[in-house]
Amino acid sequence: MTGPFVLPVRDIVHRPGEMREHTLEVSAPEKWGEGLVSVPHGETVVVDLRLESVHEGILASGDVDTRYVGVCSRCLTDIAEGVEVEFQELFAYPGEEEADFEVQDDHVDLETLVREAVVLSLPFQPVCQPDCPGLDPATGERLAENAGTQQSEPLDPRWAALQDFTTTNDDESPRSRG
Ligand SMILES: [Zn+2]
Repeated sequence: MTGPFVLPVRDIVHRPGEMREHTLEVSAPEKWGEGLVSVPHGETVVVDLRLESVHEGILASGDVDTRYVGVCSRCLTDIAEGVEVEFQELFAYPGEEEADFEVQDDHVDLETLVREAVVLSLPFQPVCQPDCPGLDPATGERLAENAGTQQSEPLDPRWAALQDFTTTNDDESPRSRG
């Protein structure tokens, strides 16, 4: 059993009351999350972990500290935010009843547990700031940056193209007439 989130628990299996603490610092082995924001592949994931031996198995609890990146759901600006989430799950000893997580060969693999805890905590509609006003429906520009300044770069290349076209016609290109 191998993987960045695999830990040996041989010294505490079937010894209820025993407890071990670990701090893991792992690179996310893949992108976590499919929404507007996700934890990028290779991002540092720090797990403060407590493994307690209980009668049914190994109880894993702790917290995860990492970072997500993506775009604001209102104005599409790039954002990057820290995310910290707690988890607790029992790794059951293999037995007759099927368990979501099991102790295997005296090891526990925390990857699925940690990934699911992080992904579930990612905001479904992330914002660059709590009061982000979003985009101007008429111009497609960010309202937040537009306040107070007359000229700002259009975000959408289609708007940039339109602006060039307008400028060219008004100021520069002489039209061939008659
Ligand atoms: Zn925003």
